Amino acid sequence: MEKNQIIDLEITDLSYEAMGVAHYNGMTVFVTNALPGEVVSAKILKVKKNFAFAKIEKIKKESPDRVKVKLNQGVQSGLASLAHIKYDKQLDFKRNQVVNLLKKAHLENIEVGETLASPEEVGYRNKAQVPVREVNGQLEIGFFRRHSHDLMPLTHFFTTDPEIDCVLVAVRDILRKYKVPAYDEINNNGEVRYLEVRRSKSTGEMMVILVCLHKDFMQLPNVAAEVSQIPGVSGLILNHNPKKTNVILGPKDYLVFGNDQITDQIGDLKFRISPQSFFQINSLQTPRLYNLAIKQADLKPDDVVIDAYSGIGTIGLSVAKHVKAVRGIEVVRDAIKDAKDNAKLNDITNAKYYLGKAEEIMPRWAKSGLKTDVVFVDPPRKGLTPEFINAAVKTGPKKIVYISCNPATLVRDLQLFQEKSYEFNRIDPVDMFPQTPHVESVTVLKRTKNSRQTAL
Ligand code: SAH
Repeated sequence: MEKNQIIDLEITDLSYEAMGVAHYNGMTVFVTNALPGEVVSAKILKVKKNFAFAKIEKIKKESPDRVKVKLNQGVQSGLASLAHIKYDKQLDFKRNQVVNLLKKAHLENIEVGETLASPEEVGYRNKAQVPVREVNGQLEIGFFRRHSHDLMPLTHFFTTDPEIDCVLVAVRDILRKYKVPAYDEINNNGEVRYLEVRRSKSTGEMMVILVCLHKDFMQLPNVAAEVSQIPGVSGLILNHNPKKTNVILGPKDYLVFGNDQITDQIGDLKFRISPQSFFQINSLQTPRLYNLAIKQADLKPDDVVIDAYSGIGTIGLSVAKHVKAVRGIEVVRDAIKDAKDNAKLNDITNAKYYLGKAEEIMPRWAKSGLKTDVVFVDPPRKGLTPEFINAAVKTGPKKIVYISCNPATLVRDLQLFQEKSYEFNRIDPVDMFPQTPHVESVTVLKRTKNSRQTAL
């Protein structure tokens, strides 16, 4: 097999990144955007020892699960790699991810629920964070091609709220008008690195964040005056990121005009969101995720609950009315401030928030004799650390509710909990990110009889 060769392939499976999988002369070939059951004529792009990558030249037999989307090729491969698959089949794909990972871990007896569909299949994202670069002498917004920092100019982001797309383009045009330079990452000069827009689904207010190399620039007053005229924009923030780095946001924010928070709603609770705080990006699906977690957790009015990765308090405040007390832990200072404000905003008096690392704070609580009934965890993609798992078990909860955005680290962590006498019998996938391969899920672990003694 060699590069640029054209071969016919029968697709038999989908990889976890949703690439079509075929076998050819002992090699596994991953074909972008091909579906199981299809026969395609494919061009080989890259050959490794046991596998190769290819792209479709022509579909010779088409799958009935294919939908025709008129999408920029780049959007399809970078931002919405499931967009060619019918939505109900996307849901099956996500459930299968979990089933396959359980099988690999010899946990076939665990039940996996049907994936809970998102109320919106496109345009659901309440936030866009897009790179700004100069392309052919002009400032452009867009996205980076996979594994590169080549900007592909783009104005319609497909999974993002269309109102956000409009503001991104309007701000781009204002930056062009005043000849504000785009960031040049090779020489670490220029000015605007990223443009971020967050929108509240419930109020429509939008926060615009310019991520800049300097904390001020000559054209800023003119730019601000025009941005303030865009309907719906309630505030402009300059985020100062002076370093030569791939990290998007710098540590400091400067309010240029308006408010530095927007308010959104999850179920019947209101949340204030600061520029650096994490907020679930699918506003309409989030209450459905939390309600599922609350239902599965079967909370009791006397329960003391820890919300270990609390963010701005969304989970803890959603469970507060069902339980006696909530203690939230979070490492981002802004998020803790938001969580405290949000408790007040919703008249919730039984939730307290603590700044720090969950794996450091929880063992202290365990030592001081705090009794915990339920621990909610909602970690980033890398999952939990063994230190965290030890600390969680030491607080002796009856239940651990694991909300996961990465089934691979979830299954790894569930096995560690099993070793510490916690058991689980089902996982419920929830689609928070339609058109993308990301899989969110809820699992409830229960303490088996004597595990408190084992743990302590
Ligand atoms: N539960 C929230 C936030 C989930 S995102 C929600 O649903 O909105 C995960 C959060 O964990 C982020 O806010 C991140 O800052 C925080 N975090 C990451 N590592 C942490 C740690 N070691 N201890 C406590 N919080 C942590």
